[in-house]
Amino acid sequence: MTVTASTTRAGILARPPYRGRLLIDGRWLDAADGATLERRSPAHGHVVGVYAQASAADAQNAVAAARAAFDQGPWASMKGSQRAAILRAVADAILERKHDLAIQECLENGKPLGQALAEIEGSADLWHYAATLARNLHGDSYNNLGADSLGVVLRDPIGVVAIITPWNFPFLILSQKLPFALAAGCTAVVKPAEVTSGTTLMLGELLLAAGLPAGVVNIVVGLGPVVGEALVSHPDVDMLSFTGSTAIGKQAAAKAAVTLKKVSMELGGKNPQIIFADCDFDAAVDAAVYGIYFNTGQCCNSGSRILVQASIVERFTAAVIERSRQVRIGDPLDDGVHAGAITTEKQYQGILAHLAAAREAGATIALGGSPIAAGHGQFIEPTVVTGVTPDMAVAREEVFGPVLAVLSFESVDDAVAIANSTLYGLSAAVWSQDFTTCMSAARRIRAGTIWINTFLEGHAELPFGGYRHSGIGRELGRFAAEDYTETKTLQMHLGPRTYWWLPR
Ligand code: NAD
Repeated sequence: MTVTASTTRAGILARPPYRGRLLIDGRWLDAADGATLERRSPAHGHVVGVYAQASAADAQNAVAAARAAFDQGPWASMKGSQRAAILRAVADAILERKHDLAIQECLENGKPLGQALAEIEGSADLWHYAATLARNLHGDSYNNLGADSLGVVLRDPIGVVAIITPWNFPFLILSQKLPFALAAGCTAVVKPAEVTSGTTLMLGELLLAAGLPAGVVNIVVGLGPVVGEALVSHPDVDMLSFTGSTAIGKQAAAKAAVTLKKVSMELGGKNPQIIFADCDFDAAVDAAVYGIYFNTGQCCNSGSRILVQASIVERFTAAVIERSRQVRIGDPLDDGVHAGAITTEKQYQGILAHLAAAREAGATIALGGSPIAAGHGQFIEPTVVTGVTPDMAVAREEVFGPVLAVLSFESVDDAVAIANSTLYGLSAAVWSQDFTTCMSAARRIRAGTIWINTFLEGHAELPFGGYRHSGIGRELGRFAAEDYTETKTLQMHLGPRTYWWLPR
């Protein structure tokens, strides 16, 4: 990060809280009832954001604005090239404001500043990628239906999309959804997680400055059971794009079904990294450590369980523990920290409860397991849990913290069976230098992404999403904008009619 007075540690801590209001129909508004909410830094304890807090009535106004903007245009009927130009302008504006965005993300989420900056830059890339899809989105034609028939399949924007996002990657996850919905010609109402709303509101400023017509994107900050539910249940919302926990996702999908909305669900994971004895040992150790401590383990994609072949499990676990001791978890504004704060008090308590349950079930906390006392923040030590069996909760449930469960296996069949034994199916990794071993495991694991000799890489071009309780649908990739469309069939008859009955 370029160092200026405002980007030094002292400058960042002294900056006033970011203040934001609701974006409805192109205007910044207070909540109708005047309510506000405050966000405190989970790493430092002071107030870093003050936002208008929407009620269900505000959410309904936002839907009405999105509906009118969709039905009356011009967004949905604009040329793809015009939409693409606006998406590119937003991408450029994100890059221009990246330091400010990264600082707010760091302060609200608790993640290291350098990591936040990389996420903002990665998000700008997603806006650029979506711009290419805006120009390439097209339907299909059938010229093979006989001399008197021609079929054309149109891709129509689905309409108003409600976008509900979590707190772990607030800007990145929003950027996995919104630009693709906009590329397709949809309008949107966005509800960020109430604890990390700042960067979503900052994006609203950039959208208006880039020339997005009023009402195309509306942003309502507020609580899930109030604002989220109002959006999920609203009959004028055509599609729900949700990222969050499996429990809330299931409830939201059930409510969305009442009005038969299309749903796209990116939910939880309990992702295994499978380490075979013939792997590149050091690379796999590094990936095991990175996979669990990156973002303090608060990733849907965290490699929260490693399955290690029995012949190397002791040596591998010892190496992981040794490397974990060197991981620095602490103030996200300090240079050289690998991971920062636990983002919410609820999450912090939940991780500690998971650790207590693991001990109770007979597992061993081989490293860490305790809070770190650092300033006013919520921090938990890098933690490795051994003696774990596949039936234990710590092997099956999402802990969403810096807690690695170590399991062992004998054969490929064994490893695949354990990998597939949870309800989730978001991602997995396979580590072996043998092609057949990698492919035989990768093809049988039921998960949306399988990394082979790597972990947690992402590219705009590659689809992302989960099997089973990890979700429904895929984001990113060349079909990402299509997900926000309906198909419409035009069937044309050429020449004289072939009569059902012949007129006399
Ligand atoms: P969460 O489910 O608590 O909240 C997600 C969003 O839903 C928030 O905006 C919240 O306010 C809203 N919400 C809460 N109650 C609601 C309701 N009744 N109706 C509608 N909306 C409601 O999740 P979280 O704690 O913010 O995020 C962590 C979870 O997200 C983890 O389980 C993680 O695995 C998952 N996640 C998944 C992916 C993925 O792509 N698969 C990515 C990131 C996070």
